[in-house]
Amino acid sequence: MYKEGKRQVNRFRLAQLILLFVFILTTIANYLAHLPYSFALTSIGILYTVFLKVLYDRGFVKSSRVLYSILLNITAFMLCFVEGLSSGAYFFYFATVIISSFIIDKEDYLELKVIYIFTFVGLAVTFIFCPQDSTLQVINQEERQINLFLNAVVSFIIGGMLSYHMMKDNFFKERSLTSSQRYLDSVFNTSLDAVFIVDISNNTVIDCNDQSLALFGTHSKKEITGKSLCSFFAELSHENTDLLRNTLLDASISWKGELSCVTHQHKIFAGYVSVVPLTFDGQLYKKINILDISDIKQAQAALQTAKEKAEQAVFARTRFVSNMSHELRTPLNGIIGAANLLMQGNAHPEEKQYFDVLKYSSEHMLSLINQVLDFSKIEAGKMDLEKTNFDLRKLIDNIYNLFRRQFEEKNLELEIAFDELLENRTFIGDPTRLGQVLTNLISNAHKFTSGGKVILSVMQVTRNSHACTIRFFVQDSGIGIPPEKQVHIFDSFTQVESATTRKFGGTGLGLTISSKIVELCGGKLEVDSKPGQGSCFYFTIQLGMQNDQKTYVNEEKVKELPSLKGIRILLAEDNPINMMIAKAVLEKWGIVITEAVNGVDALEKFNEDECDLLLLDLEMPEMDGFELLDNIRKRNINLPAIAFTAALFENMQAHLINRGFNDYVQKPFRPEDLHAKIVQYVNVKTV
Ligand code: ADP
Repeated sequence: MYKEGKRQVNRFRLAQLILLFVFILTTIANYLAHLPYSFALTSIGILYTVFLKVLYDRGFVKSSRVLYSILLNITAFMLCFVEGLSSGAYFFYFATVIISSFIIDKEDYLELKVIYIFTFVGLAVTFIFCPQDSTLQVINQEERQINLFLNAVVSFIIGGMLSYHMMKDNFFKERSLTSSQRYLDSVFNTSLDAVFIVDISNNTVIDCNDQSLALFGTHSKKEITGKSLCSFFAELSHENTDLLRNTLLDASISWKGELSCVTHQHKIFAGYVSVVPLTFDGQLYKKINILDISDIKQAQAALQTAKEKAEQAVFARTRFVSNMSHELRTPLNGIIGAANLLMQGNAHPEEKQYFDVLKYSSEHMLSLINQVLDFSKIEAGKMDLEKTNFDLRKLIDNIYNLFRRQFEEKNLELEIAFDELLENRTFIGDPTRLGQVLTNLISNAHKFTSGGKVILSVMQVTRNSHACTIRFFVQDSGIGIPPEKQVHIFDSFTQVESATTRKFGGTGLGLTISSKIVELCGGKLEVDSKPGQGSCFYFTIQLGMQNDQKTYVNEEKVKELPSLKGIRILLAEDNPINMMIAKAVLEKWGIVITEAVNGVDALEKFNEDECDLLLLDLEMPEMDGFELLDNIRKRNINLPAIAFTAALFENMQAHLINRGFNDYVQKPFRPEDLHAKIVQYVNVKTV
């Protein structure tokens, strides 16, 4: 940013200082010369100079300035009147004019004119009404001469000093303006953009910078200025681009965008154009910046072509890999089938051994081909996950059965820790891919563990009515992975040591595929491992849940529980199946139920004299359980309320109590739990 070189002096303060000095001097002189009226007037001058300084400091800038000029004029008149014209006090008018010009605001010409007129009228009035020699004070001829001389000198000194300051000020201002102009010119002309200044009244270019000449292929500004703005943009010469035309030519609108620009030689180049309104000297203009973006456009086009080519290459490779894999799988299936048949026959024990090798090798090869196929699918972004209903417990059992024998053969233990909260639920997801990840992790754990055990844990983290977040762990007591290798094992074709391939086999693709599948499920596959102690691979994903959960109610158990006859419950539940089951159970205990299908319905049916307990579903349409209870609590603060919910979240009990509930029963519910809660909160004697 350009900065002015010299600080401006505060003219008003300077003038005040000089005048104060002059008034003090003349007051002393008048005292010594025994001129009481003159003494009084110059003393008043000192007082109002001080008073006006205070006024100025308080922010009354303009009023103190105007008042100052008026008071100075009056003082000049009065001095002439008490001293007589021959003493030369009228020279004071000269000083007054100079002071007024000096302290005036630079653009307030009206104020200046008024003060000038006032001063000249004052001067005229003085010469008309003031006596040549005053008789009010005793002044002899010699003193008059001295007064005349002193008044002239003081006025000239004041005038001289202030004029000197004015000239100095103007000189600095001019110099700073010239530098500022040069600075702006160099900014204007060294800009990488072409800049046009456009007259908004006729849309002609009135000025442009040096870069405009280079960009539009001309040698002189004259070939640009004076021309219509439309002639520089291809889009503006078409009639059908009214909108753009109006936007560019409308005085008040700023605009940015890409346009095709036309050079002097009628060549077209791509320009990034920005248009901003500009006001100068009360006139409206538009400043138009044009940046040549042809190179960027070319690079973009080249990039797009390269991207398309790369995509085509990936596509071709994927198709090739997938075709190859299919082609390889067909004969392999034949080999595996034949090996199986041969093994079932009465082969010689030595031959059986070879058949075993044949079967193992061909199955291994099939799994490698499948891995390569999956990998190429992932690379091409073509791996989609299914969404089907499945039973997680069954999936885990199947995986366990798949590995049981392998683990027994190696004398390893495979332990399953399955969270019972996940039992008997229908999840929505891709069981095949989830199974593939777990199989791969267990297979690795089996491969790299020689003693101890492998644990597969499946734990519920949170749950609401339609989804469940689950954490899976596969923990082994095997060789472990050094910390520096842990980040790389998820990269494709990476193994901790190349010797691994020789010793344990494998492609280094299993973890890559698994971690991509987990990512597609919305999770992240991670590892904690210590060399020599074992590894733990884990991930957390969310699985959808079927909402129409069957509530597994043991009819016999329901009957065994003591009767709760006479208790009245308001049951709010929107799911018809849940309502049916809860109602059946509650009625078996002799409870009288008021049914409501949502919060609004429940609020209408609520009657505090006919209700001993509230059993409220939390997630209901129109008005949920929380809002419903808020409304009921306005009428009855003590009635026990139990939340009936499929949701599960952290600090649930505390949260519900905070919202006015006494307790909650988890859905699907165990009848004995519900029974116990009813007994706990309703004052009943069970029979
Ligand atoms: P591979 O087919 O070679 O097993 P993976 O991607 O499944 O490919 O594993 C990559 C490498 O990570 C393995 O070669 C091994 O070095 C290391 N690794 C994977 N799981 C374990 C584990 N449970 N214990 C020790 N090392 C492991």
